[in-house]
Amino acid sequence: MFQIQSFTFSPIQENTYLLFNESKECIIIDPGCYFDEEKEVLKTFIDQKGLTPVKLLNTHCHLDHVFGNKFVAETYKLTLQLHEKEKAVLTFAPTSGLMYNMPFDNYAGDFIILKEGDKIKLGDDELVIIEAPGHSSGSICFYCAKQNFVIGGDVLFYRSIGRTDLPGGDHQTLLNSIRQKLFVLPPQTVVYNGHGQSTLIGEEKKYNPYLK
Ligand SMILES: [Zn+2]
Ligand SMILES: [Zn+2]
Repeated sequence: MFQIQSFTFSPIQENTYLLFNESKECIIIDPGCYFDEEKEVLKTFIDQKGLTPVKLLNTHCHLDHVFGNKFVAETYKLTLQLHEKEKAVLTFAPTSGLMYNMPFDNYAGDFIILKEGDKIKLGDDELVIIEAPGHSSGSICFYCAKQNFVIGGDVLFYRSIGRTDLPGGDHQTLLNSIRQKLFVLPPQTVVYNGHGQSTLIGEEKKYNPYLK
């Protein structure tokens, strides 16, 4: 069974997720650790739990979600997994880092490309890829049907939705993704998102002002 540990990193307050189970291996999703102290927090947690990181995943590649990619990839010898359309977004991330006055070294290794329906396995547990473009053109979510949760990135937030004013963003595409890909999940599904508190699919269907 997955256990989920979240961290909130960087001045952009991005949620990084670490998933682990009985295998003592773990998956790191969107490592947004920017400062050395934040990288140390992530590493210390992994060390103290005795975990071996085996996969590095990005929901999408806006700067706040990729600050720690290089650190995680180099520390644990991992290849970054992402949607094909996010490769260009990743390439641009250090430039937007300069615009935000947050320079960083980008991940420069190989890629493993993820697409709709692909499965990410960890011991007896698995996540299924859901493509949910709109906030970014290659946004993906990681869904665990057995435990009723989804790691959603910046698609759907507590009573809000992802911004669509960045390159590759499109408001109608985002609304379609939420309605057709996320709102079809069971209402008790917990959404662990890229910013702010988690929420439930059933509650967002009822109360999200952007999806009335
Ligand atoms: Zn984003
Ligand atoms: Zn974000």
